[in-house]
Amino acid sequence: MFPPLRDELRGIEPYGAPQLSLEQAPVQLNVNENPYGPSPEAAADIARAVGAAAVSLNRYPDREFVELRSALAAYLDTSGGSGITPEMVWAANGSNEVMLQLLQAFGGPGRVALSFAPTYSMYPEYARDTMTEWVAGHRAEDFSLDLDAARRLVEERRPSVVLLPSPNNPTGTVLPPQAVTMLCEAAASYEPGGIVVVDEAYGEFRRAGTPSALELLPQHRNLVVTRTMSKAFALAGARLGYLAADPSICDAIRVVRLPYHLSAVTQATALAALRHAPELLGKVDDLRAERDATVAWLREQGLEVADSDANFALFGRFADRHAVWQGLVDRGVLIRETGPDGWLRVSIGTAEEMAAFKKALLDTIETTK
Ligand code: PMP
Repeated sequence: MFPPLRDELRGIEPYGAPQLSLEQAPVQLNVNENPYGPSPEAAADIARAVGAAAVSLNRYPDREFVELRSALAAYLDTSGGSGITPEMVWAANGSNEVMLQLLQAFGGPGRVALSFAPTYSMYPEYARDTMTEWVAGHRAEDFSLDLDAARRLVEERRPSVVLLPSPNNPTGTVLPPQAVTMLCEAAASYEPGGIVVVDEAYGEFRRAGTPSALELLPQHRNLVVTRTMSKAFALAGARLGYLAADPSICDAIRVVRLPYHLSAVTQATALAALRHAPELLGKVDDLRAERDATVAWLREQGLEVADSDANFALFGRFADRHAVWQGLVDRGVLIRETGPDGWLRVSIGTAEEMAAFKKALLDTIETTK
């Protein structure tokens, strides 16, 4: 059959949330974007930096992106890390690409990648694309992890890569540091051991008192913490994700990365954005407050809501969640039908967008009763 696709890829739909135009759904709260764009000053500085890079686009970019690695290391030291050096940092086109590279380097035929469901839906795709066996353990009803069961599963299946989103997508819940420590120790207890990836795509949105796994890096050589500029930095369109880990892990990725994978335009954009970090991150506090208010409001309506340390909330449960999702779309509000059956996920937008969401949800619940 043409084209001669790998058998296991036949008939599979490409991953992606349903996209509707702004005319169809003016309020878009479905892909956990930051609703605030850069200020005119930050946008102008990014444009200037890209303009300067444009003059030498006949040349390949810095393959090792040394300046960007230094800037990311300095930023991480202000965001839960300490003593992070440029050699401990790696970056790629979105943290999706960073994690795919981790699977390319550490997964592969005969190896296992493991996570605990519900978990980020791209993980099984990285496993499939790198011919790594996918194993999913389970979370409890409240989406927490049974630590003993989790450790036993790791010891039994001996994964090469453990993927732990924290805050988790789609639930928004975080893992306590003891869970990360226990799983790092479990993954170091067999030969040749596994790496434990704590995916902190939403790390900057965590509530006060919730530590970052960056703090645990000095204790665990097999710990990798991934971050992204797509969420808190409001830079989803630039595609820049990164990680912090032992330098030997970064060196291993250098073997599988494509040469010059980070374009000069991407590097210039990310560096300029990092110079504006305080301003770009300035909306994080507003979004956290809006998130807490949204969670409280949903609970006041008698709905179940998972604790959220992210820029979204998972709520339910609905006998027919599709009908509720459709009801919201009909009222111009696009959210995401994802997570366990009966639950829906809403990204946190501006106060006006959240007001529109609340009104549309009340109307919909009223008419679907
Ligand atoms: N990890 C998690 C948990 C996510 O939800 C996302 C984005 N939806 C990503 C990673 C990837 O983000 P990006 O590639 O934009 O960095």
